[in-house]
Amino acid sequence: MSISGTDELHEARFWKKEGDRAACYLCPQHCKIAEGKVGICGVRQNVGGKLFSLIYGRASAVHVDPMEKKPLFHFKPGQPILSLGSVGCNLRCLHCQNFDISQARVKDFDLSHVSPEEVSHMTLANSCHAVAFTYNEPTIWHEFTFDACKVAKEHDIATVYVTNGFMEEEPLREIAPFLDAMNIDVKGFKEGFYHEVCKARLEPVLKTSALAYRLGVHIELTYLIIPKKNDSEEEMRDFCKWVSSDLSSKVPVHFTRFHPDYMMNDVPATPLKTMQLAHRIATEEGLMFPYLGNIGGDDGENTYCPKCNTLVIRRYGFAVETLALKEGRCAKCGQELNIVP
Ligand code: SF4
Repeated sequence: MSISGTDELHEARFWKKEGDRAACYLCPQHCKIAEGKVGICGVRQNVGGKLFSLIYGRASAVHVDPMEKKPLFHFKPGQPILSLGSVGCNLRCLHCQNFDISQARVKDFDLSHVSPEEVSHMTLANSCHAVAFTYNEPTIWHEFTFDACKVAKEHDIATVYVTNGFMEEEPLREIAPFLDAMNIDVKGFKEGFYHEVCKARLEPVLKTSALAYRLGVHIELTYLIIPKKNDSEEEMRDFCKWVSSDLSSKVPVHFTRFHPDYMMNDVPATPLKTMQLAHRIATEEGLMFPYLGNIGGDDGENTYCPKCNTLVIRRYGFAVETLALKEGRCAKCGQELNIVP
């Protein structure tokens, strides 16, 4: 039996035997995996009729990042966060900025061994009080992230997912009590975009976002604006209306600027006027905290009080200056700002 680059396997969860296949129900791809093969994510393999995770406790990268890099602007602003990822992804985005690890296979990487307990120890040893599962899609190593999040909570460490939101309800419900915050990519607001650009579907992402919000996880959304792909006024307005109606107008939304990458090197960077249009639409639709990312120099990343327009938090790059924040409220008028201290 050939195993994909590792002799260390951890039995997967959220799967069942269907005929001679192992059917995985961790994410909505619902891969039906033949003996010896892996699913779309490349990290769950049918070995001898059972499904195994190839990446339990196998990290490709561990860094200390600013919280703002996730991006999370309303969750512990200005604090460092230990960030780790593995390899693989359940999506195939043509514009992926992390394709070197998201599209890699286990055998391509010299992955480090890490236990759930070591994640907490590393977090505290690096003077962090928060840990993020990021760089690749955290959903696909759920068995490990779930164990690591549970241990982290025993150490009073905050836990974060930076995710594409393409996950099934059952694993989300399982991990939500141990997950403090999520930044969820909503990559576009049309099924056609998800099908063409990501090889996935929009609807499960919207369901994940709404359920995570209902379950009490702090969520922020990222919408990368790609010229001629997901940048129409109608699509961005529909997205903003959905945030307002199905989540809350208090959910921070990060519109970020596209730069040519991976298989979309022929698409130009997002024009600044499109970024400004997105901000205007978000404001018109009542969103309280729309941000503009990757545009440098502008004040699109500052937090203003939506009631009295006081500058509450100034950001420049990853520098954060808190100017008018008192117990999560505007220090001037008392408006609640949906900020987790
Ligand atoms: S987690 Fe991986 S193997 Fe499971 S359904 Fe999703 S892509 Fe397929």
